[in-house]
Amino acid sequence: MIDFELKIRSRDIGTLLSTLKKNNPGTDLSAIQKAYLFANAAHEGQLRLSGEPYIVHPLEVAIILAGLKLDTITIAAALLHDTVEDTGTSMDMIEKAFGDEIAQLVDGVTKISAIKSMTKATAQAATLRKMLIATIKDIRVIIIKLADKLHNMRTIMFQPPENQVRVARETMEIYAPLARRLGMSKISSELEDLSFHVLDPEDYNEIKSAIAQRDTELEAYLENVRKLLDKQLRELGISAEITGRAKHYYSIYKKTKEQKKTIDEIYDIRAIRIITHDITDCYGILGVVHTLWSPIASRFKDYIAVPKSNMYQSLHTTVIGPEGHRLEVQIRTEKMHATAEMGIAAHWLYKEDHGATRRDYKNLTFLKDITEWQSDLKDTREFMKTLKMDLYENEIFVFTPKGKIIKLPINATPLDFAYAIHTEIGNTTVGAKVNSQMVPLKTRLKSGDIVEVMTSKKGHPSEAWLKFVTSPSARYKIRTWLRKQIESATRADSDERQNSDKTAAVSIPKDEQIKLKGLSKQRKIGITIEGASDVLIRLSQCCQPIPGDDVVGFITRGRGITVHRRNCPSLKRLNNEKERFINIMWEASSDTFYPVKVAVEAIDRPNLLKDIADEISLAKTNIIKVEAHLENSDIAMFKFILEVRGNDHLKEIIARLKKIKSITRVYKLNEKVVLK
Ligand code: MN
Repeated sequence: MIDFELKIRSRDIGTLLSTLKKNNPGTDLSAIQKAYLFANAAHEGQLRLSGEPYIVHPLEVAIILAGLKLDTITIAAALLHDTVEDTGTSMDMIEKAFGDEIAQLVDGVTKISAIKSMTKATAQAATLRKMLIATIKDIRVIIIKLADKLHNMRTIMFQPPENQVRVARETMEIYAPLARRLGMSKISSELEDLSFHVLDPEDYNEIKSAIAQRDTELEAYLENVRKLLDKQLRELGISAEITGRAKHYYSIYKKTKEQKKTIDEIYDIRAIRIITHDITDCYGILGVVHTLWSPIASRFKDYIAVPKSNMYQSLHTTVIGPEGHRLEVQIRTEKMHATAEMGIAAHWLYKEDHGATRRDYKNLTFLKDITEWQSDLKDTREFMKTLKMDLYENEIFVFTPKGKIIKLPINATPLDFAYAIHTEIGNTTVGAKVNSQMVPLKTRLKSGDIVEVMTSKKGHPSEAWLKFVTSPSARYKIRTWLRKQIESATRADSDERQNSDKTAAVSIPKDEQIKLKGLSKQRKIGITIEGASDVLIRLSQCCQPIPGDDVVGFITRGRGITVHRRNCPSLKRLNNEKERFINIMWEASSDTFYPVKVAVEAIDRPNLLKDIADEISLAKTNIIKVEAHLENSDIAMFKFILEVRGNDHLKEIIARLKKIKSITRVYKLNEKVVLK
């Protein structure tokens, strides 16, 4: 629970040192003091918006981490975390004074701020979360960042209101889920409650006071449960600590919304947590609970035998408790409890514990020995590797110089990047810079790289590119370009021959009847979503819906909503994810144009393309792009990208085209329906 009335508690280095002495007896206190003095000098004269000296912030961040029992290196880095970003301190100075490891942590935290300020669109929140994990080598960087966020959220009331909302939203979308993903539930819950308070103060206060009202009654009930349990456990010689569960306003709020329950219904379920020393005792306690009260069989879960993916372990059971109330019981060891609250951070705490030896977790000391640290770091890397694989098997994330995130397949090169931005950029790429350094085009990119490509009108794809590009789309685009070159060469050849034969042939249009128009940049989409506005909407490429089509929205992970035609074949494989579909409808609007691909097949004849172009322009539409080639020697195939207002408009165009002499078929591409 959070006390929002909390006034500034100016804690000092004394608080940090005594927390460390109490919590982490192994800490190198002189190193901590040195980092504090360094940071204090660097931030000299700076103030927080609260009016306090700036050093209060890094100090509080360090105290949060000391509470999580993190190691000397992490806490020293926490004290220094804002020096490079906010003061004249250089990374070199940190490295000279504190060594490589601390410097790298500080560097990592500084880089997160850089990534963050480059990417602002909320639609990218999921991507940004992935980015943070993908680019960070040492997970302690994220742990420091989360503690930093936590202190900033605890003091959010000093920010101007508009900042408060922005920061709270960012916390809700990026940092709280990240903390949860790392199993740090204590931090994620507090981040959520603090953000909840800013974003929705009314609901927050309602839940808070509803809970306060029911608290006395609940406490009395739990006290009774505790007594009954205690007696039984003592008889069996099992020692355990029995507590109520921490109240997490935001999760209660979410339950009322998602399960459409009232606070009373949720609160009807009582909850306790029993913490003991070893696993055998956990199962012993479970036996006692099930003897005292009858269990609801379907609600038993053994996360000790089968831990959750974020390392969470515990026994869960629900029983019919005293007075017929449902009672949720969690049973776990101290170590499991630490993991449940601190997640990945507990990794450092129990580093020495190999399971065979039972340890009192209050007396665990920290690793000081550098060799042990090295092996620990290797473990961390292993952990990160599995975590990363788990999150996104084969993707990397790189940046444009302006900070847009581009997702590419693993082993992608600057050329894949260029084609991902735009075909024309890919086709004219002549050089590339990665993190401001010139590199060969076949360089493999890594997550976090800032990539820039140089283009030239004289540049063009080469056969050799196919050997190292990774993404299928880049490969396809290069092949297409190369094939067109060959085709136009042979066509030029045959043009000459045919001209002399006085027969005309199809060629890529150069004449002025056809206006080739670039894709308009920001197209208004013209779609309304029930109950939502301000979402990123894209029209799917696979079926290219246009107004008048029967459509449905699909909520993608992190890329907003994609609009498909209801009968789009690619929706079939998404059928088991029904909850991600959303109803959408077209807005009545006549000034928006949508691109559609239309294929025209005809028996080749002179002036064919001109006749088609005339009809298209009479239908008041634009040709964005046209491709033409001859199939056999006399069948002409055209693929147009046209701009249409909607289904009716498209039908009109198709009807016009069908009347043209020698045309055999006209149909919308990506849709195997023959319209003639
Ligand atoms: Mn900070």
